[in-house]
Amino acid sequence: MTDVGAPDLEPVRLQLDAHDISNRARSAYGPDGRLTLPHTAHWPIFPFEVDGVRMRLVGDPVLPEPPRHGEDPQECSTCHSGDDRFVWSDRRWRVSMSDEPMSLPTLMLHTREHIDFDALTDEAAAEMGVRLIWMQRALASIEGVGRVHVAKWGDGGAHLHIFVIARPRGMLQLKGMFLTTWLHALPPLRPELWTAIRAHVRTALEAAAGVGGEPM
Ligand SMILES: [Zn+2]
Repeated sequence: MTDVGAPDLEPVRLQLDAHDISNRARSAYGPDGRLTLPHTAHWPIFPFEVDGVRMRLVGDPVLPEPPRHGEDPQECSTCHSGDDRFVWSDRRWRVSMSDEPMSLPTLMLHTREHIDFDALTDEAAAEMGVRLIWMQRALASIEGVGRVHVAKWGDGGAHLHIFVIARPRGMLQLKGMFLTTWLHALPPLRPELWTAIRAHVRTALEAAAGVGGEPM
C-alpha cells in the first residue's frame, strides 16, 4: 500500500471568524432560503411543534459587541444590591432568588466582587464549585425534584452569575437544554410555595456553610 500522505493544505489560522462562519451558513441555505432545522428540533424535548417553525436568517456579525448590563460597576445592579436582597451570602459569594415566583425553582450564584467568570482565581473557582454543589443539594432535597441543572452564559450581564434550576421529577419534556425555554413559558409557582422554597434554600445553605464552609 502506498502512503499518499496528507494533502497540501493551507495552514489553518486558529481563529473563530464570525464573518466567515456567517457567510458559510448563508451558503448552506436550502431552497427556502433558510438553514435546515437542526436535528434537535425533532427531539421530544423540543418545546415547539415543528410545523411552521423555521430558522431565523443568519444576521451580520456586530463588532465590536455592544456592552453588557453592568459592564461599568457603577451601573451594575448586582453590586448595588445589599445582602438583604439575597437568599444567602458569605464572604465572597451571594445567592439570589427572584422576588417574584418563577415557574421552576431557580437560584443564581454571584461573586460579591464585580468580576466575571474569566477573572476567577483558581482558589475562587474552587469555592464556586463547592457553593454550586451546596445549591444543587438545597434544590435536590425538595420533594419532587427530579434533577438540578447548572447553567453559565453571561451574555446579558457583566457580573458573574450562574443559574441553578430544578426540574420537576416526571416532567420529561423539560429534560435537557430546552429547560430554560420551558422556564419562561410555564406559569409561575404558587407564591406560598415560592416563599417556602426560599426559606428551605436559606436553611440548607446556612447548614452547608456551617458544616463545610468558612465563617462569615
Ligand atoms: Zn457588579
